Amino acid sequence: TCDTQSSGIKILDDSTINKIAAGEVVERPASVVKELIDNSIDAYATDIRVEIRGSGTKNITIVDNGTGMSHKDASLAFQKHATSKIKTIEDLNSVMTLGFRGEALASIASVAKVEMVTRQKEDISGTKVVVDNKGLKSISAAGSPVGTTISVEDLFYTTPARRKYLKSMRTELAHITDVVTRYAISYPDISFTLVSDGKEIVRSPSSRDLLDSIVHLYGADVARSLIPLEFESDLVSISGYVSKPELTRSGNDLQAFFINGRSISSRLISNAVRLGYYTLLPKGRYPAAFLKFTIDPKFVDVNVHPTKREVRLSHEKEIENMIIRAVEDALASTDLIPEAKVGK
Ligand code: ADP
Ligand code: MG
Repeated sequence: TCDTQSSGIKILDDSTINKIAAGEVVERPASVVKELIDNSIDAYATDIRVEIRGSGTKNITIVDNGTGMSHKDASLAFQKHATSKIKTIEDLNSVMTLGFRGEALASIASVAKVEMVTRQKEDISGTKVVVDNKGLKSISAAGSPVGTTISVEDLFYTTPARRKYLKSMRTELAHITDVVTRYAISYPDISFTLVSDGKEIVRSPSSRDLLDSIVHLYGADVARSLIPLEFESDLVSISGYVSKPELTRSGNDLQAFFINGRSISSRLISNAVRLGYYTLLPKGRYPAAFLKFTIDPKFVDVNVHPTKREVRLSHEKEIENMIIRAVEDALASTDLIPEAKVGK
């Protein structure tokens, strides 16, 4: 037998490693919703339906009509570092998919009971996979429409401490609603539905443009106070809407920023937008801003944090200045949204 004194270091087993990783990726029910929607979008889904019970703590089910997975891929998807999206670190310079770490499904499965049914167009039969925190429980052929349905049951049943730290059911639901709303704005061509305990909370039909989505999700009053913003340079192109200085909030809940389709939070961008208003904003108030940035992926480091909500930008100073200028220009134009586009 070995000497326990000299063998203090042990390699953690996979289930423990996954639980630790899950602590970073899966903070709360809304993080599960985010990761699963990412996957559906990466799989080219045009219709994504999210159904939750108990603010996501009892059940989160996501149904997409994306490409689905082969039987083999379905059997691998829940393993750690299993990804179809990158092969080498160089691929990160051009990554356009939302996922690439290959750890979301493994992490989720380590803290919940997960079932997945999936089928690719070219396969006659689909695959059903059942996973729990000990790994793959069963895999079998199953009838399925083309696409993927993932059901996440009893979130954090393996980690009661984390479960205890969840905020009120209302707060968790608000986070999920926020996540789905941001995606709905970001991807107007995808139809999103969120159903909570049988009640439809978000419904954003497809083939609407950004403004239509804003009207739908935030109401005509918000949309009426918006000014279109378009900016183009070699480094970055920006398009979207900012509000007239009259429409402000005490927090940034009327702001959504997207870089190359990814919903991100960025102090830099938020501050630059405020700077564009100079003294027009009351102290401590934030304008509405819905902005999409297209930047060469090699200038955007998304590999900063496991949730990928934060990004690091090269050429920060230039980008900041461009945002300020873009907001100035938008505010200087009298180009308000025509009443006809917003409705009453
Ligand atoms: P990542 O998204 O970083 O690759 P995930 O753990 O989220 O890692 O997913 C693992 C893999 O499972 C993906 O790379 C993809 O091939 C497959 N996958 C997951 N969800 C879906 C889905 N909804 N439709 C099709 N394939 C999926
Ligand atoms: Mg993913």
